[in-house]
Amino acid sequence: MTIETHILDINKAQDIQTAKDILLQGGRVAIPTETVYGLGAIATNEDAVKSVFVAKNRPLDHPLIVHIGNESQLNYWVDEISQAARCVMNVCWPGPLTLIFKKKPQVSSLISAGLDTVAIRMPGLRSIRDLIADLPHGLVAPSANPHKQLSPTTAEHVKQGLGGKIEAILDGGACDVGLESTILDVSGNELQILRAGPYSQEQLAQITNMHVAMPMSHSVKVAGNMKAHYQPITPLVLVESAELEDYIGVGNSQSYAVLHVDSASASAAKICFNMPTDRAGYARKLYQTLHQADHSKTDTIVVEVTPQIKSWPEIMNRLERASHR
Ligand code: AMP
Ligand code: MG
Repeated sequence: MTIETHILDINKAQDIQTAKDILLQGGRVAIPTETVYGLGAIATNEDAVKSVFVAKNRPLDHPLIVHIGNESQLNYWVDEISQAARCVMNVCWPGPLTLIFKKKPQVSSLISAGLDTVAIRMPGLRSIRDLIADLPHGLVAPSANPHKQLSPTTAEHVKQGLGGKIEAILDGGACDVGLESTILDVSGNELQILRAGPYSQEQLAQITNMHVAMPMSHSVKVAGNMKAHYQPITPLVLVESAELEDYIGVGNSQSYAVLHVDSASASAAKICFNMPTDRAGYARKLYQTLHQADHSKTDTIVVEVTPQIKSWPEIMNRLERASHR
């Protein structure tokens, strides 16, 4: 069944009110955040939360992140906040860091997917925090894309993926960070990164003055913790700089869209996207460029990997999952 998806403007007070009304009635509104667009629904409304899983075609065993507008909303979800958690909250919130806490018994197992923990984040965008603070307890807001597909960093991406399936999209322009939050588990004695993201392992260790573990693979249920995820429709391959020229070279009947950092080696490609060479810049452009490449009607998307890109776990994590077939 297709429904009408209203496009709302974050700069219009009337539209913010409409977004709140839709949410309070149990509807789904895609919201901009500094990381990626989230599919918001009132976290304490079971039917609304279920409808988020339905719109995304997301399996029920993948827990959701609760987005809060202020610290007092944390009280509904959590009662134990360790010193280390306090420390990172003080420095990183609001911002692109999700924390995993022991959950209060009242937290719906739909949100925690049966785990005894709950994931909480306070988004960086002021207007979104204000919107959430006006609603009871917070919003669940998984990325506003169909399950396993590319995350959306513009309202247009959300419309392409979920238009006709959700009640509204609040357009706030392009996301500034462009990559999903770092997920840090603060529920046990050891601090552990469950998903690499904008806050690096080194930064979190420095902030907390504690050892921060980042297991290469782990069994904890995290949506990002699947081999195939963040995928464009067009097949994607990762190619080292030294092999790039040969890979896309003449005599090959395939057409390629290439994300590269070194223009010389990509010159034979039909379509090229020159990526930024700095870490934050690369992250900001990654999904946006993959969306463009996916629309370029080529046979394959090729991503050049350099030693520098390989040293960025949050980027390699997304690229490896995007290339998994
Ligand atoms: P997304 O659905 O793209 O917003 O990603 C949300 C991420 O948070 C997923 O990777 C979830 O699996 C993860 N997550 C949510 N709750 C928990 C939890 N209690 N423990 C571990 N990971 C969680
Ligand atoms: Mg996602």
